Amino acid sequence: MEIPKQGRSRDEVLAALDELRGADADWRSGRTFSLVYWAGDDVLEVAKAAALRCFSENALNPMAFPSLRKMETQVVGMVASLLSHPDAAGTLTSGGTESILLMVKSARDHARATRPEVTRPRMLLPVTAHPAFVKAAKYFDVEPVFVPVGPDLRADAAAARELCTGEVILVVGSAPCWPYGVIDPIAELAALAQERGILCHVDACVGGLLLPFAERLGTPLAPFDFRVPGVTSMSADLHKYGWTAKGASTLLWRTRELRQRQFLVHADWPGGLFGSPSMPGTRPGGPIAAAWAVMNYLGMEGYLERARTTLETAAALREGIARVDGLRVLGAPPVSVFAVEGVDLDVYALADRLTGLGYFLDRQQRPPSIHFAVTPAHAPHVEQILGDLRDCAAGLRGKGPAEEGQAAMYGMLGTLPDRTAVDGFLLEFLDGLDRT
Ligand SMILES: *Cc1c(COP(=O)(O)O)cnc(C)c1O
Repeated sequence: MEIPKQGRSRDEVLAALDELRGADADWRSGRTFSLVYWAGDDVLEVAKAAALRCFSENALNPMAFPSLRKMETQVVGMVASLLSHPDAAGTLTSGGTESILLMVKSARDHARATRPEVTRPRMLLPVTAHPAFVKAAKYFDVEPVFVPVGPDLRADAAAARELCTGEVILVVGSAPCWPYGVIDPIAELAALAQERGILCHVDACVGGLLLPFAERLGTPLAPFDFRVPGVTSMSADLHKYGWTAKGASTLLWRTRELRQRQFLVHADWPGGLFGSPSMPGTRPGGPIAAAWAVMNYLGMEGYLERARTTLETAAALREGIARVDGLRVLGAPPVSVFAVEGVDLDVYALADRLTGLGYFLDRQQRPPSIHFAVTPAHAPHVEQILGDLRDCAAGLRGKGPAEEGQAAMYGMLGTLPDRTAVDGFLLEFLDGLDRT
């Protein structure tokens, strides 16, 4: 592949682009879960218009585009207030993964500075925590110590206590976790961290802009944010339930001193005095402007309304699924993210059938399950989705594990005892993505 010798017209190029997009998941039909968070075309249009206005601007240098700096400060302030600590020191990042990477790097550097006796830093990581933490562990050489979950699928706080040796510098909890949508026992995990004088991060990437509204709408939730003593940092994505353009998350610290650990300064570069608060160099203005615009467009009332639709839709789906023979929701997920397992059917075979109907669903393991992250896009399709689940499940009950299709592969890879072999398979898969 080379750059074409001669360019094509704008119309030709855009037509070719649309043709490429033809095979993409159709998220507007209510059959795609996760990946796209849609709260109505009015919100989308605000996000797009704002992003286009600042399409070319770059937040790399805070002096050049003071508008971006102001918008960023205000967005971080709004999220901090929502998470019960208006004075939290924060940064707008490119996504949940960057928020988590930055946090782990900072926690490591904080330990290096304050606890030099720790030579091999470790972090307590519930097995359900997002893989971005494992990525951070590998990038920054902080060993993950995996905390099991209890029968309710939440991190086992007693087990965490047992595993909290002197080299642990950080305790992580999720609000909620992605795989099952349940909220870890944040108060217990944070208390443990506080007792030991170490850091505690609450990963509210998916829940940060939903749980506060769920709480206001009457969903009973234990405190999950900076109200909990011992919580030292939080991550909350704007590009999920904040309904903003992709490329926007926040990392918040209880104190400015802690946030300083994430900064990089270099006074000796010929290119000038260099300082950078987060991971990227060039930072697109679009996602910053879109976040600022959507938050101001929706206001608390708009967010509450979207959250209400989201929660009601998720509850309707869960209640309907509970009445489908052969399917069961895992645990007691309080908001919009949940997993469904097969009781007497191969849930991977169910997933294959749903794929055949145009669904795009994540297949999970431990136990085999399919994953739902509900948004208002699903609201008009609840009956259709339940009907499809019922029809697909009906033909599969009592049939045992599928022997063909993706289901057979997932079944095999999920249970293979040699996980290094599965890692090898995943490496080959990634490597093969750019082969025709
Ligand atoms: C989505 C998510 C992340 C990672 O966020 P990205 O924006 O995809 O990088 C981390 N933690 C949880 C709980 C998430 O749901």
